[in-house]
Amino acid sequence: MKLLAATNNPHKLREIREIAGKDYEVLSLKDIHLDADIPETQDTLAGNARQKARFIFDHTGLNCLADDTGLEIEALDGRPGVYSARYAGEGCSFDDNIQKVLEELDGQENRKACFRCVVCLILHGEEHLFTGKIPGEIIRERRGTGGFGYDPVFIPDGCSMTFAEMPAHLKNGISHRGIAVSKMFRALKKM
Ligand code: IMP
Repeated sequence: MKLLAATNNPHKLREIREIAGKDYEVLSLKDIHLDADIPETQDTLAGNARQKARFIFDHTGLNCLADDTGLEIEALDGRPGVYSARYAGEGCSFDDNIQKVLEELDGQENRKACFRCVVCLILHGEEHLFTGKIPGEIIRERRGTGGFGYDPVFIPDGCSMTFAEMPAHLKNGISHRGIAVSKMFRALKKM
């Protein structure tokens, strides 16, 4: 079965493909030559996941999925949350966002945080939502070169490595996206 991933983020695409395994072919927007600026203007993760998936479905009519993810930091009242992508401002880099978080947490003992992910699947026009969450903590310095986004400063509870230090299969096995996307593929098998 083919599923179109409504993302322009190559890191996300790679992770979703790894989780999908061999039963599903996950197509990228590039694969179908769709050069789209996907809107993401809602103020909830579920709202954004639905908006992105619906936008791509409306343009292609293909079965598709979109994910929206936020890093929620307890000491920052849940920020950056739904604003994780542009936390340090429009056009900022992953590293700018990490820098802002580290500065805001400077001197803060409570480093608890979680990643939360909502996946929206549109199958034959119908929406289905799946969620994943992983608790952990924000460390004081960057560690590791894998993954993307805030991975170099996030250690999941019970682990000693940051997401950026883990091999991809380990991150995918426990991550917010791994949980939500695996739920989706399990559900798809029964649909
Ligand atoms: P999006 O809105 O779902 O594309 O993601 C928002 C932002 O969250 C991204 O730009 C990344 O900075 C961050 N992010 C999303 N997923 C992950 C992840 O798996 N690890 C680390 N950061 C992530």
